[in-house]
Amino acid sequence: MAPQSAEQKTEDGTTMNFNADVSRLLDIVANALYSNKDVFLRELISNSADACDKLRYAAISDPSLTKDDSEFKILISKDTDYRHLSVTDNGIGMSKEELIDNLGTIAKSGTANLMEQLGKTQDEKDKVNLIGQFGVGFYSSFTVSNHVEVISRKAGSDDVWLWESDGRTGFEIRPATEKEKKLLPSNRGTVVRCKIDHEASEYLIDEKLKQVIQRYSDHINVPIFLGIDESDEEPVQVNTVSAIWARSKQDIKEEEYNAFYKHITHGMDDPLHTSHWKAEGKIEYNALIYIPTLRPWDLYDPSRKHAVKLYVKRVFIADDCEGLIFPWLRFLRGVVDSEDLPLNISREMLQHNPVITRIKNGIAKRVLSDIDKLSRNDDAKFASFWGQFGAVLKEGLYDAPDHREGLLKITRFFSTHENDTLTSLEDYVSRMKDDQKEIYYISGENIETLKNSPQIEGFIARGIEVLFFTDTIDDFWLQSVIDYKGLTFKSVTKGDVDLADLDADTSPDDKKEDKDDGKSKLDEKSSALVTRLKEILEDEVGDVRYSNRMTNSAVCLVASAHDVDLRMERVLKIHQQYETQSKRILEINPDHALISVMKNMQENNESIDDAAWLLLDQAKIIQGEPISNPARFAQTMSDIMTKGLEGKAKS
Ligand code: ADP
Repeated sequence: MAPQSAEQKTEDGTTMNFNADVSRLLDIVANALYSNKDVFLRELISNSADACDKLRYAAISDPSLTKDDSEFKILISKDTDYRHLSVTDNGIGMSKEELIDNLGTIAKSGTANLMEQLGKTQDEKDKVNLIGQFGVGFYSSFTVSNHVEVISRKAGSDDVWLWESDGRTGFEIRPATEKEKKLLPSNRGTVVRCKIDHEASEYLIDEKLKQVIQRYSDHINVPIFLGIDESDEEPVQVNTVSAIWARSKQDIKEEEYNAFYKHITHGMDDPLHTSHWKAEGKIEYNALIYIPTLRPWDLYDPSRKHAVKLYVKRVFIADDCEGLIFPWLRFLRGVVDSEDLPLNISREMLQHNPVITRIKNGIAKRVLSDIDKLSRNDDAKFASFWGQFGAVLKEGLYDAPDHREGLLKITRFFSTHENDTLTSLEDYVSRMKDDQKEIYYISGENIETLKNSPQIEGFIARGIEVLFFTDTIDDFWLQSVIDYKGLTFKSVTKGDVDLADLDADTSPDDKKEDKDDGKSKLDEKSSALVTRLKEILEDEVGDVRYSNRMTNSAVCLVASAHDVDLRMERVLKIHQQYETQSKRILEINPDHALISVMKNMQENNESIDDAAWLLLDQAKIIQGEPISNPARFAQTMSDIMTKGLEGKAKS
């Protein structure tokens, strides 16, 4: 928790400054939400509904908490004379400490990260999106008010506290007066009272309030009442109170689904995809699961939990029940409501419950099948989905063998087939050469470097497709996913690849001859060059050999068949899990002019030492790796350039 920067005791209360993050964030929120002010009401209603849900759950083990007042409700009321708008609930309430912790600091990890991103973002719309992903919550009330009071009494406690703030400098907290206590409808709950700014006067008009509340509240399963002031009329209920996930799919409009999504995410975006189903059979549950449009800001934060709420028979149980969602689906939002779990199950017992495991698998299966459909029906949407969540989903390839097939079906890669176009494994296989028995890939930091790798030149020349793997996670799942439909994945930077086997325009018999010939045909001059290169570079490379992997480049480095792939080795080194440096193999292109010149030099007993080192360094540089002796590289390079340029100048 971020510390308060200053605390001052007064006679009856405490004044505290906001920490720097809160002040800055409040400023940004107020600006960014300037044209989207309705959000504050939605957020306050959502918080009240959550508070009722929490108390309903707590009352299962301690029924005395709701004994005197068992009907949960939320009331929105106003007092035009004082310009007050209040949102009142009889939910769980907050203690003094909770008021300080929940409303005085931004306790979410990653706030600093959000602030940094906001600092870099110029466009107001992008800012709104970012804040939406973060979830502004209670602070949005300062977009319509310069003075917000929160009066709260925790269920089961006698103390009533008042928290108030101008949303700028800090807040004050003190015991509520008798008059303020009367604002609470019963012996528990919370009132959030905003003094509405003049620029936001519309929130004191009944029609406006009705319209906003109705838009945001129909899916909320606590009755919401709107009090009409200046009249003795009873407040009127404005929502129908039904759990949206328990209703029939046919009766729910897209806007309702989207409104519920915003309620649970506190976000601004619409979902990319909504799945709503009822599972019946061995276990029964209703699930309403959303795929967001954008990845949550803390997707890769190790402390992030998933955000699918668990209900049991319409009663809220937990926000992030462990074991309900696979970690590789942690971006999903929504609600699962089980009919089989006992209501009084403790949260700790949940994660080991077999019903939860079944639901987890049911959700994964359904979501994967929906994504597969999306990939076939809506290219643009699917591409956007894959860009946001593809890398996370791939964690499932090693994490969840039972869902591997479903995951491999939707996994997409860039490849040498078509620029900037994703391909599925199914499509890759359909384009494979007749004799091809492996799925070729190259793994590296970015597509541009991979496209220019010497190791794939021979493949491109022969029209053999190579997949580009650029997510770090790729190197990990490849350790456990051995094959796709019986075809193994093979790194083109590893092992011996004889592309002559795959040349389309040679018959199988010719290929065999070629290959046999190739070996025996290695003439004296060629073998002499290889022998000499091995002598010169013996400390750095394990072997030197000719290869048909390249067409334009003279050399490249590969790993031997039993070593890890080149990129994997680098990744492991970063994670300090790899100590021994395996020696690479330097492959040389027999058809390259430079190699021919070197053969001649070697035959004439001229020194090829400098050229050998340059070749090795060059192979490393293309690979994006450091060279072992940069000073020697620079010296040799300038010597050879001098000779070359002198020759040019003379001629
Ligand atoms: P969020 O709702 O996203 O957690 P908020 O800033 O809206 O963020 O609220 C912070 C916390 O304050 C909530 O998580 C909740 O614990 C508490 N809170 C806010 N409003 C209420 C309320 N009406 N009753 C009880 N607790 C509340």
